Amino acid sequence: MNSLLLALILSSTPQQIELGGADLFADQQQTQQGQEPPPAKPTKHDPDEEKHQKDLEKDRQLGKEYSVEVEKELKLSTNADATARLQAIGAEMAEIANSEAVAVLWGDRRLNKFDYTFKLVQGDDVNAFSLPGGYIYFYEGLLNFAESDDELAAVVAHEIAHASFRHVETLRKEQSKFDILRIPLIIAAALSRSPEAMHSVMAVDLATQGLVSGWSTQAETASDYGGLQYMKKSRYNPVGMLTFMERLAYKEVLSPQLDWGIYRTHPPSSDRAKFLIKSLNEAGIPLKRSQTTTSLSARSLLKPDGSFDLWFGDSLLYTFKGESAKARAAQAVIRTNAFLDTVPQMFQLTTNGNEVLGNGRTMIAVEAGDLEEGKSVADARDKVVVGLKRIIGELSFRLFRQ
Ligand SMILES: [Zn+2]
Repeated sequence: MNSLLLALILSSTPQQIELGGADLFADQQQTQQGQEPPPAKPTKHDPDEEKHQKDLEKDRQLGKEYSVEVEKELKLSTNADATARLQAIGAEMAEIANSEAVAVLWGDRRLNKFDYTFKLVQGDDVNAFSLPGGYIYFYEGLLNFAESDDELAAVVAHEIAHASFRHVETLRKEQSKFDILRIPLIIAAALSRSPEAMHSVMAVDLATQGLVSGWSTQAETASDYGGLQYMKKSRYNPVGMLTFMERLAYKEVLSPQLDWGIYRTHPPSSDRAKFLIKSLNEAGIPLKRSQTTTSLSARSLLKPDGSFDLWFGDSLLYTFKGESAKARAAQAVIRTNAFLDTVPQMFQLTTNGNEVLGNGRTMIAVEAGDLEEGKSVADARDKVVVGLKRIIGELSFRLFRQ
């Protein structure tokens, strides 16, 4: 990544350095306070509108220049299906982002329209980044990590928010004294989560740490919140943003190779997950994680012998046999998801005779006909309980309750 960063620094031409300035900020304040609906047809003499178009054009130009440098370092994916999937979801979310302004916690509050482009690049990183003007890049690793279109759309929405809220320009304004030459480098680091990029930033100047930290906390929170609003307007489930973030936080906990000294400057994913839970609760969106994941959802699978396996994530819980196997498995899927979606505690799991109950409601009813010769119903039921207890323990460790 070092040569990429170098390229980004070198791409900062004097023309770009002149961008920004105090007048821009004053102008923007005026626009926000004005609250007047824009005229249907901007006239030639609308100074706000002219200024707005100039600002957007500046982002487009900057993004175009950065994208040329970035693409010298990255290889485009050869996976046509995955690329098409990303671009279809990208186009959908871009249309939403361009249609009306949403609440902006940090950044440019105007409705900033861009022709978004989404490119899939080679690499296993669970990573995506956004350049000014709507140039958005996803690594193949992120598509593999996302367990649903909902999760992928959520990351798309987050990256769009960075561009739409003009976070790069916002940082320029807030840090006018800061060495502008270093900004592309910081952006690359902050947006990419790349350890190499973060190393480079730290090597350049430890004093940048505070800036990176301030930038990323505000920008990430604003993009998470803005992304959620785009998701609410879309056909995708906003909970996908939460489940993606929670799994990312879990991955960070599990990855011993991560250097916490470097990642300390980035808002930990767990904090972001908690913020998302709060925002989803406030929006009245139920946290049904089973709807946006595969690892946190129950499903039934037909086996060659006609029986149905009940799975939760990668745990096999039970096998239904006989005439009614399909219907019983389908009901168990619904009830197991309903129970585990609440991130229950152990005491909420109980038994009654041959039945396993969640919150007092039957989830799985063990029947002798499901079992091999000589196996007892009680033993089979207890085996289901053990499996569910292990899952409940894991959920408590991995997820945050509302
Ligand atoms: Zn971000």
